[in-house]
Amino acid sequence: MAERVMNCEETKKHVHEYLQNELSDAELDAITSHIANCDHCEWEYDFESAVNNVIQLRCSETPADEIAEKILQRIRSIDLNDIPH
Ligand SMILES: [Zn+2]
Repeated sequence: MAERVMNCEETKKHVHEYLQNELSDAELDAITSHIANCDHCEWEYDFESAVNNVIQLRCSETPADEIAEKILQRIRSIDLNDIPH
């Protein structure tokens, strides 16, 4: 699959799928990359901690699969905190 480039409109369309882990690895990476480089979206979606995690992991030569897994774990933990018990 060719690498996708997401703009703000595309990111907005896919953000719910992103949060629900319904995107392919390529789409996940494209959105994460966009948010990391877009102040508007970073503010809009409050993914700051997830994005910071990606940046730190990339700087330490972690394989992409592990980065994706870390993001998914973080998103899942956020989702769990949002569910009333
Ligand atoms: Zn944006």
